[in-house]
Amino acid sequence: MDGAEALALEDERTALFDAIRSDLLDEYRQNHDWPWIIGYSGGKDSTLVTHLVFEMLLSLPPSQRSRPVHIVANDTLVESPLVVQHIIESIEEIKNAANAFGLPIITKITRPAPDQSFWVNLIGRGYPSPNRSFRWCTDRMKILPTSRYIKSQVDAAGQVILLLGVRRSESSTRAASVGRYDNGERLNKHNDLVGCMVFRPIVELHTDDVWEFLALNEPPWGGSHLKLIGLYRNASGGECPVVTSKDDAPSCGTTSSRFGCWTCTVVEKDRSLEGFVESGYAEFTPLLDFRDWLASIRNDKERRQARRRDGRITITEGGTFIPGPFTLQTRAEIFERLRNLEAETGQRLISDEEVDLIHQLWSEEIADHGKARSLNVREVVKGK
Ligand code: SF4
Repeated sequence: MDGAEALALEDERTALFDAIRSDLLDEYRQNHDWPWIIGYSGGKDSTLVTHLVFEMLLSLPPSQRSRPVHIVANDTLVESPLVVQHIIESIEEIKNAANAFGLPIITKITRPAPDQSFWVNLIGRGYPSPNRSFRWCTDRMKILPTSRYIKSQVDAAGQVILLLGVRRSESSTRAASVGRYDNGERLNKHNDLVGCMVFRPIVELHTDDVWEFLALNEPPWGGSHLKLIGLYRNASGGECPVVTSKDDAPSCGTTSSRFGCWTCTVVEKDRSLEGFVESGYAEFTPLLDFRDWLASIRNDKERRQARRRDGRITITEGGTFIPGPFTLQTRAEIFERLRNLEAETGQRLISDEEVDLIHQLWSEEIADHGKARSLNVREVVKGK
């Protein structure tokens, strides 16, 4: 690129960002009091949206900062360790700075209900590690916690505007999902959430535009975007964005996921954790090995019960037998290995509440099996 071309590109970028800023300001000043909710994943795109909104609020006199802005992140409880640390720290920085500046910002980290966590479903109920055809995790661990929060705000305010950092050029999947929201207006109805309008202020930006902005501008809440840039440098692949509907879900747990769960067996290989390990975070190697082991036992028939949890046997129309959940022995083995992993890495990977729920589910299942067995015996005796 020669000097003239570089200057033209710079002018184009400046115009793009000016247009985004004026869009944000215009929407914020609309004559209603619907709160804004920013879906914050800690990744580059939602960080940029948060940055621009924070700056816009700062630019307004206090009397005009009337609309509350919620910044909502989700922690699946099995996020990649460095990523969850970044989310928690950055949300804390944003909250402190917003308080200091008197901005109407409310921060929130949503989490799955303990009963629906990864470990309770995998070890407690024996759900096989998620894969493409049985991806039970995204709904329970990502969509529901965020949706619950959005719905609570809809209940309180009647309507909300959800700001998402989606970009058309991020990937073909994203382009398709953006297309579903595209009615030519600034605000589009959310496909699943009633009372929620979607606003995608940076939809037309390209990846380079985002990086250049983050590299050249310090966050208005203090610190620097270098930590975030470092996270991307250390991991490989793309981005696992905020997921609020099944239409967004294909981008979660794909080979390009960067900010996904460290336990993700939907991907062939965990590119994100692998990237961290390659960049010197050797302490994540045991997590990576554990994830690979989980993926490897998924289709081992010896480790799966014949019947599903509701007692049915599943045979597809084509005659293929689909095994049920992991056997209790395998669940106990996963649990023991997880505890050993905690001891090895010095990290807390499962909470006491989850452990209690797992034990409760096991006891209920053992009691149910006992009842079923005694019924079978009576039936055999009757049949004689
Ligand atoms: S990153 Fe993987 S394990 Fe986590 S919710 Fe998405 S598909 Fe499921």
